[in-house]
Amino acid sequence: MATTPPHGGALRNLLTEATEADALREEARHLPKLVVSGRELSDLELLAVGALSPLSGFQGEADYHAVLETMHLDDGLPWAIPVTLSVDEDGAHRLGGAESIALTAAEGDEPLAVLRISEIFKRDRPKEARSVFQTEDLEHPGVQALHEAGDRCVAGRLEVLSLPPHDDFLQNRLTPAETREEFERRGWRTVVGFQTRNPIHRAHEYIQKCALEIVDGLLVHPLVGATKADDVPPDVRMRCYEALFEGYYPKDRAMVSVFPAAMRYAGPKEAIWHAICRKNYGCTHFIVGRDHAGVGDYYGTYDAQKIFERFEPGELGITPLMFEHSFWCSRCEGMASPKTCPHSEEERVSLSGTKVREMLRAGERPPQEFSRPEVADILIDAMRGEGTNPPRP
Ligand SMILES: [Zn+2]
Repeated sequence: MATTPPHGGALRNLLTEATEADALREEARHLPKLVVSGRELSDLELLAVGALSPLSGFQGEADYHAVLETMHLDDGLPWAIPVTLSVDEDGAHRLGGAESIALTAAEGDEPLAVLRISEIFKRDRPKEARSVFQTEDLEHPGVQALHEAGDRCVAGRLEVLSLPPHDDFLQNRLTPAETREEFERRGWRTVVGFQTRNPIHRAHEYIQKCALEIVDGLLVHPLVGATKADDVPPDVRMRCYEALFEGYYPKDRAMVSVFPAAMRYAGPKEAIWHAICRKNYGCTHFIVGRDHAGVGDYYGTYDAQKIFERFEPGELGITPLMFEHSFWCSRCEGMASPKTCPHSEEERVSLSGTKVREMLRAGERPPQEFSRPEVADILIDAMRGEGTNPPRP
């Protein structure tokens, strides 16, 4: 009783069978090494566990350009952001025409995977920046990361020996195969996924629960790969989610597991990419709020919702659920949004991000209509420990 088929039909698992691992490990020792770090290491993990199905490795040039130009793979399947492995000119030279290379997380580390090279191609940086981020402005964190990445991309099939090591959230690191199994165990036929890189305030809780009213289950799926320095650290966020789940979420209808991706801050394109990944985790529905995966004012408030219209109905295979910003209204006596509340601003509890940060920093809880006290206390505590660089609520 599966919820939904993976993107492209089959869930990838690039981890090598135990019986073949020793031989592959031995082979990897003698191959040229390439250190994979940051965002690309997160991508390696996503590829390995099938979160980026149907991809079986880092993408080649035909797919790279097809994705940038058409938001589809070369074979026509929807895909929003290229998944590439960078190498600079020197690095490409050092690989010296090797057919296979070993990937490591750091210099001198044991190999994590072997990449069977199909091609090495030149990245079109301006084209990639404009297509993915809609800007070439170096102030944009995604454009900045792209600028720092190597000029060339090494493409090919991956054979993975082990996932990048982690020491956190070990109980909450379900792979797509595992979330699917868990959904089935719980008897969920329909599941809504919620992407987040922030603590969950009342507004997000309300949106999640509105969505949960029409499906069987909710997967809160916080992103725990690299984010901007001023985003709230993942361990603090996880404590907030646990407090919320403990006090306010039905345990048989909601679960939390982490999404090991790094943020790209690509707004609309990342909303599509996030939705496709969650489909692979078994979600049938995906929440898209205002300014999903946005940063600064590079994207319009509703761009990440409107971009879904560029696909034929059913083409993505996951249903986006679009939400407005929501708030507590004292006249409605409940959470509401501009879609459901006719009252004026004065009747609504709304606080700017800056105001909330000020309050938390001063050790003051925001109104309970804005933030659950349990969540506020965790954030206040975290800010005390943070010193000069307080996390952003
Ligand atoms: Zn109202």
